[in-house]
Amino acid sequence: MKHPLHDLRAVRKLIQEHQFFVKKGYGQNFLTDGVVLDLIVDAAGERLTGDDRPLAALEIGPGLGTLTEALAESGFSHVVSIEKDAQLIPVLAETLAGHSHVTILQADALEIDFAQLPFVDGHALRIVANLPYYVTTPILMRILESELPYDRAVFMVQREVAERMVATPGGKDYGALSVAVQYYCRGALVCVVPPEAFFPPPTVESAVIVLDRKKEHVVSEALRPMFFRVVRAAFAVRRKTLANALATHFGDKAFVRSCLEDAMIDPVRRGETLTLEEFARLAVACSARSVHAGGDKSEIHESFKGRDVD
Ligand code: SAM
Repeated sequence: MKHPLHDLRAVRKLIQEHQFFVKKGYGQNFLTDGVVLDLIVDAAGERLTGDDRPLAALEIGPGLGTLTEALAESGFSHVVSIEKDAQLIPVLAETLAGHSHVTILQADALEIDFAQLPFVDGHALRIVANLPYYVTTPILMRILESELPYDRAVFMVQREVAERMVATPGGKDYGALSVAVQYYCRGALVCVVPPEAFFPPPTVESAVIVLDRKKEHVVSEALRPMFFRVVRAAFAVRRKTLANALATHFGDKAFVRSCLEDAMIDPVRRGETLTLEEFARLAVACSARSVHAGGDKSEIHESFKGRDVD
């Protein structure tokens, strides 16, 4: 008889039968809580207003196939899952046998070309993952910055990271990650998940978060590099006033003062008090002034590239 995969005994048995060694280094904490599993699947499968397309899912890190199986059995017509650990592929072949609408790809979510994934046209795409915590931010940013045509993402992440993702201006959790996530999505915390909901239990609390992709952004595509350059500079030194933090980054106090004035932002404020709209005004002002001064947009872009938003 087939046991539900989220059952702790079934997970232990599966691991034993396949002589599988759980790899901490891959962030392997397998979900063993059926209630949390249902909350993730329900959020992922929720119909968004006015959209009756069939649903497809992209899952990062299927592990033993617990979430994959639940998605496949809850109305998703296609599930594509990307697993880095080659040793899990035979396990997944067993646990997902009979689910012909599931495709497992052995690949690194940080390297795979999302454009090459075997998606089917005409579906609403949901991204679903119990993310490996050691690479949460890079995977998250790669998805947010991608052209993937998803309308909703549901992630299990470390609680502290989830709180930073949805934090509002003025609080201690509000930082570059909050602005980056909220630039692309509207986020909401679904639930906090204790370590006992996993095998093996992680050392920290987790949380499920829903991110609904925004159709419009606060700045145009051309201004995006400057927007993130300003955000990074503003949060680089939290204790400094905005004027000083930006001057440290841009190396020109007068330029920064003029940009803040154009954007109607008080120079003595601190970065963590600025809303997305204020960062957008500042980016517009900085871009306009640097273009007048002969600034090169490609240079601006290069200066942001390769840095981890955290
Ligand atoms: N989805 C399963 C669950 O909920 O029980 C497993 C989640 S576990 C927290 C994270 C999974 O991501 C592991 O299976 C791990 O091997 C996989 N993983 C780690 N790094 C990855 C990467 N860079 N790309 C794809 N998968 C990765």
